[in-house]
Amino acid sequence: MDTIAKNINDIQKRIEKVSNGKKITLLAVTKTFSAECAKQAIDAGILDIAESKIQEALPKFEVLSNSLNGISKHFIGHLQSNKAKKAVLNFDLIQSLDSVDLAKDINRHAKDIGKVQKCLIELKVSTEETKYGASKEKVSEIYDYCISNCPNISICGIMTIAPYFDDKELVRPYFKLAYNVFENIRKIRNDSNFNVLSMGMSDDFEIAIQEGSNMVRVGTAIFGERNYDK
Ligand SMILES: *Cc1c(COP(=O)(O)O)cnc(C)c1O
Repeated sequence: MDTIAKNINDIQKRIEKVSNGKKITLLAVTKTFSAECAKQAIDAGILDIAESKIQEALPKFEVLSNSLNGISKHFIGHLQSNKAKKAVLNFDLIQSLDSVDLAKDINRHAKDIGKVQKCLIELKVSTEETKYGASKEKVSEIYDYCISNCPNISICGIMTIAPYFDDKELVRPYFKLAYNVFENIRKIRNDSNFNVLSMGMSDDFEIAIQEGSNMVRVGTAIFGERNYDK
């Protein structure tokens, strides 16, 4: 077994240990890694891949084309309005919807091609200024806006990126907060399409699952350290 397949196997076992039989989607985050690496992950059974930059993702998808049959493609980076069209054309799930303006753009482009674009609203749980995402109040506002005005968007849940701590346990309250925001919308709006809570990465996916995540986004633990300057 190659390293990537072995890593995926190990992660799946670790997920099983904490998930109590609940279905957890494991996304392979392929950003900065080659099409060949992505293909190895797919060959090892991965059904969901994630990229954070349109300009990096599209040439990779081109190379991978035949291998992508039946694979869901997730956009997890910050999405600028001028890239919304390409995101709608090329991704199954946009996880970084964080403003009403972006929802308007996504809805318009999706309508143009007769698609209902699945999206997650990105909740900002960290207070770091550089992080994107919407506050808890804005998440509800975006959700309500989409339900009333965006027939070409289906809001499937929430994504969040927790802050990094050397002591992993410190991240737990941020996941609890995201779970509460998620559950509030799910229960109060009684929306059965709203069922994805995307949280947890290489360093903290087990804690995220214990706190209610059902989709984890893992890069480093599958592919190794990223090298951003190539
Ligand atoms: C890069 C990235 C990940 C994967 O992070 P790892 O620590 O390498 O697992 C997950 N989510 C988002 C939004 C990312 O940008």
